[in-house]
Amino acid sequence: AQRLFDPLRQFAEKFTAIQSGFTAIERITNILTEPIEIRDSAAASNGKWQIIPTQPDATSDPLAPPTTGEIRFEQVWFAYKPGDYILQDLNFTIRPGEKVALVGPTGAGKSSIIRLLCRLYEANQGRILLDGVDIRDFPQQELRRYLGVILQDGFLFAGDVKSNITLGETYPMAAVQRAAEQTNVADFITTLPQGYNTLLRERGSNLSGGQKQLLAFARAAIRNPQVLVLDEATASLDVGTEALIQQALERLLVGRTAIIIAHRLSTIRNVDRILVLRRGQLVESGTHEELLEQQGLYASLYQLQMLGQ
Ligand code: ADP
Repeated sequence: AQRLFDPLRQFAEKFTAIQSGFTAIERITNILTEPIEIRDSAAASNGKWQIIPTQPDATSDPLAPPTTGEIRFEQVWFAYKPGDYILQDLNFTIRPGEKVALVGPTGAGKSSIIRLLCRLYEANQGRILLDGVDIRDFPQQELRRYLGVILQDGFLFAGDVKSNITLGETYPMAAVQRAAEQTNVADFITTLPQGYNTLLRERGSNLSGGQKQLLAFARAAIRNPQVLVLDEATASLDVGTEALIQQALERLLVGRTAIIIAHRLSTIRNVDRILVLRRGQLVESGTHEELLEQQGLYASLYQLQMLGQ
């Protein structure tokens, strides 16, 4: 039965090999700013794909459970290099509104999971479903609206503050301001010489790490995505923005599904569930307390981090 998949696998491996020629940052920039070269499937371009109702935003009733935002990995295998499977038979479901942290040693495959979810790469085998729809059947445009991706050191480009939030898409100014207010960056923007029209240097070198992070939050907030994908910053942020970031993040998470690569214990404690990865395999799953009790990989990683603090 294994043989049956070989031609398919070889094709997929060639495909991903071509893609891995891009650096991570180029690919990340692509998903945020430009159409990427992964093509829509026939179902996606035939319009068989259905419009998913947008989530209530962070200001509406937080008690109403979200009905969309389910992420499902089904027997997902993935290799950057032929035969070298970085992710092996991954199976998990994240329910609408659930906040899940990905934890594991460096190189375990956390970022790769996120890259597959954003379709920066394609799985060699298996399926990834969003609300039951295979992501290959999502038009790229819709996928980018559905997933709010916030990466470490939120990437900014040379352009004004407004377009760094809208990414060049058309939004009324009121929506831009509201996104900035929700994410605690509006006050900072008004202190800039030309407010929302102030030009930012490439990679936002005239902003602090915390300010960049807040702008990246505003960029996600304006799209009102069903799912937030977050690679939490490891670098210690300036004391002035730390609390603002925490509050903005909490607001952003309300009513949304979230998948977080967590580096800080405080974040891990607050999620609904932790998925623990080792060498591309899911080895543990549970709450912080449950996993500590199991005294497995999570417990030892946690103890190591505690020692380091
Ligand atoms: P984590 O985020 O858990 O640190 P990654 O998903 O970044 O892990 O990496 C998983 C494995 O994939 C590692 O062995 C890493 O060296 C490898 N890897 C990551 N990116 C690439 C790439 N672009 N090309 C080849 N191998 C990669």
